[in-house]
Amino acid sequence: MKVVIIGSGMVGATSAYAIMMRKAASDIVLIDANEKRAIAEAQDIMHAFPFVAATDIYAGSYQDLKDAKIVVIAAGASQKPGETRLMLMEKNAAIMRDIISKTIAVNPNVIFLVATNPVDVITHICINIAKEFGIPSSKIIGSGTTLDTARFRSLLGSYIGVDPQNVHAYVIGEHGDSEVLCWSNIDIGGVPLEDFIAHRNIEFNEEIKNKIDDGVRNAAYKIIEGKGSTYYGIAGAVAKLVEVINRDNRAVLTVSTLKEDVDGIKNVTLSLPHLIGGDGDLGVLPIRLSVKEKMLLKKSAEIIKEKIDEYENK
Ligand code: NAD
Repeated sequence: MKVVIIGSGMVGATSAYAIMMRKAASDIVLIDANEKRAIAEAQDIMHAFPFVAATDIYAGSYQDLKDAKIVVIAAGASQKPGETRLMLMEKNAAIMRDIISKTIAVNPNVIFLVATNPVDVITHICINIAKEFGIPSSKIIGSGTTLDTARFRSLLGSYIGVDPQNVHAYVIGEHGDSEVLCWSNIDIGGVPLEDFIAHRNIEFNEEIKNKIDDGVRNAAYKIIEGKGSTYYGIAGAVAKLVEVINRDNRAVLTVSTLKEDVDGIKNVTLSLPHLIGGDGDLGVLPIRLSVKEKMLLKKSAEIIKEKIDEYENK
């Protein structure tokens, strides 16, 4: 299965590397406005093959999309001095239009995985652009809170001393400040969190919850402060999504897709747990939330909607 990554900067290149390490695709094509960068990244990753698995990786063009199943969008402009958030959004929207129109002209059947930030709004914009070309919204999936959910599972798993793969916990809503950590429905290998901590005699209180919440919600700020940008975590999430789609694994992942109605907020793109398989998004799952979590999800939906409206009514 071939995956094409458009935008081979830090996120695109590390995603390619993670896909190769996972053996999640047979062919990886890198496309970047900076062709030299795409060529260099492809070559560098190729040199790791002898230690992993033979995957065909090369810098290519839109013609390479002909037989691709997935397109990962990790292209984006960075904020220039004096540029407003809205100006940056307009620039990135133009990049998305360029990528989507060129992709659809070659292959209208691909599944788009969007990682470019702000991912919920950018995914929403991509959905609207694709609609103009007759492409259904189900073909456009934002990475959303897949990464935040992984951060939550890592921090909680580390605190309680359990492999994060056995921690079922979700972050939903916005990939950003208003995201919602769902504490009310966590299970550890099928055992509710409260039962698990009581059984294992683990100290657990609001202070510990707040510390984990802060670690998840503010992870990107802290990493950016230390090294300029984040990319390994999102690369892991992208590689997982690529694998699940290529192998029709039907995994539950918190991706960002268009929602008709979130507690009265219409036509908004945000993350909830979805079943993901060979055809991409197979549908949202009916997660049980506490009253507080429902209220926070609505607030998060309102915040995303405001950002979408700000862009659409500019
Ligand atoms: P980067 O600057 O390293 O790479 C961006 C690349 O996009 C550059 O190589 C640039 O040449 C390329 N590009 C720009 N316009 C293009 C076009 N029209 N066609 C093809 N390529 C084009 O940035 P990065 O660190 O890789 O981040 C990329 C995006 O991913 C950013 O928007 C970032 O905020 C986002 N991101 C998302 C998450 C997430 O969880 N969704 C996490 C980290 C970063």
